[in-house]
Amino acid sequence: MEQRQKIYEGKAKILYETDDPGLLIQYFKDDATAFDGKKKGIIRDKKMVNNKISERLFKELAAAGIRTHMVERMSDREMLVKRLKIIPIEIIARNVSAGSLSKRIGLAEGTPLPRPIVETYYKSDELGDPLLCDEHVFMLELATPEQLNAMRDTARKVNQVLTDFFAERQIRLVDFKIELGTEVGAKGDLNNGDILLGDEICPDTCRLWDMATDEKLDKDRFRRDLGKVEESYAEVARRVCGVV
Ligand code: ADP
Ligand code: MG
Repeated sequence: MEQRQKIYEGKAKILYETDDPGLLIQYFKDDATAFDGKKKGIIRDKKMVNNKISERLFKELAAAGIRTHMVERMSDREMLVKRLKIIPIEIIARNVSAGSLSKRIGLAEGTPLPRPIVETYYKSDELGDPLLCDEHVFMLELATPEQLNAMRDTARKVNQVLTDFFAERQIRLVDFKIELGTEVGAKGDLNNGDILLGDEICPDTCRLWDMATDEKLDKDRFRRDLGKVEESYAEVARRVCGVV
């Protein structure tokens, strides 16, 4: 698959076109950012680790019948994916209170939620990814009610599959973020039908706590200067993918 024009460079990845208009190469960078880019750094070997973990998790989800954009991992840094029109809503699923939820409603970090919850945020760096009500989603025409329902259903299913998958590896899935989009057809035109899971699922986009010790094994180690960032990412990779 020939790599062509760079079409987007984000905080964590670069997207390249290929000779097939329906396929993109997702290139994973070592850059780490937090707090909407205000805190910057490098996490050594992050690209390789996030790419491998994402691949393993997408495979697990595909086996459970959840459609994802992944075609194949091409190399340590590259994943071949189906081109999507990303819906600018970040879906967060939570099992345990942490981060912005703890701050917003005053629930101590680490409090288990009586049942999983799913939240919607506007994917907008300028606005700082604000929480969205359904009324906001429809007013801004970010998604139709049917699409929003489908996105929430997918998030709940992803949560079930990944909660079990991580638990088998002694990891508690506290929360995670997913991005979804509609498939762009082979001719480059929009197929407004099916919604696929896109982007990445890795220690940058999940909160993962060791089940025995509650030790954080995710990006909060970088955000909160807890140290052992690379070691924790490597530990997740070891438990999820075997030796890497
Ligand atoms: P950001 O800084 O916006 O989070 P990233 O560095 O994570 O960006 O780069 C990935 C970008 O590519 C994101 O904006 C994401 O929405 C988008 N993206 C992810 N998967 C796909 C896909 N299959 N097709 C098109 N865009 C995608
Ligand atoms: Mg991103």
